Amino acid sequence: MTIRNIALLALAIAGIALSVIIGLFQPDKNLPPTAAPLFELMGKPLKTADRALTRVLPISDLDERELGEAIALRYASYREEGVPEQKYLDELVQALTRNNEKGFEYRVFILPSSVPNAAAAPGGILFVTSGLLTMVETESELVSILGHEIGHVELSHCMDMVRFQLLAQKIDSRPLGEIADIAVGIMLRPSFSKTQEADADRYGFGVLIREAYNPFGMANAFDKLAALDPSSMDRANPLYEYFMSHPYSKLRADRYRAEARQAELESYYVGKLNLEEKLSRFSQEYEKEWVRR
Ligand SMILES: [Zn+2]
Repeated sequence: MTIRNIALLALAIAGIALSVIIGLFQPDKNLPPTAAPLFELMGKPLKTADRALTRVLPISDLDERELGEAIALRYASYREEGVPEQKYLDELVQALTRNNEKGFEYRVFILPSSVPNAAAAPGGILFVTSGLLTMVETESELVSILGHEIGHVELSHCMDMVRFQLLAQKIDSRPLGEIADIAVGIMLRPSFSKTQEADADRYGFGVLIREAYNPFGMANAFDKLAALDPSSMDRANPLYEYFMSHPYSKLRADRYRAEARQAELESYYVGKLNLEEKLSRFSQEYEKEWVRR
């Protein structure tokens, strides 16, 4: 076999594995949309043996904070402790959510995908792809996307969706680890309504204004997402199918460009250097990142 043939075969196998997994996620099938096979494809082990994860829980007793803890525990290998990107995101998200109304301890997980995207799950769990960290050029842009995802949690979109889907699947009790997988599976699939997406945008924009970040950060981030060329992406990446249909668009960019023009801020912080240095503005503020209007 030539190297080219081996590569083609590997691609074919990856393709079959992917379609099997996507098959599992078809909403019409009775199988719960568990995220475990997807994460196994990404190559890191998921924690299983913990007592908190094996405890069987009636869905009626399901508490959002507890579910968040279970997700954090089960997917712990997707946190890159000690890596600058992880430290940076942790610092940033902790500062942005310091007074969050739900009282959650927000945690960020970095997914190895070149496709830029982000997702949220119940209890303050945020997922960002490494492709997203490469795509954004300023901390303002990153904050607008994190703010959108935090919005999905704070506005209860995540937990409402999980409860709805568990009910629809007639799942009444499961081990907590399995519920965590189902919840993450639901959250990685674009499933929010247009209204919920618009509300999360509004929440994210509110975070930019509240923290005096560049109000154009959101429009800039949406512009970059809208300009993504799907044909340039690595389709063998298991996250590709999930993230391609996320409803980012030129429309959202235009809308938030108009909002930014009207924002009443005398000065705002851009944070290009913060992103480059992986030092959040909350730990290192650079004078030259401030823009007076
Ligand atoms: Zn969203």
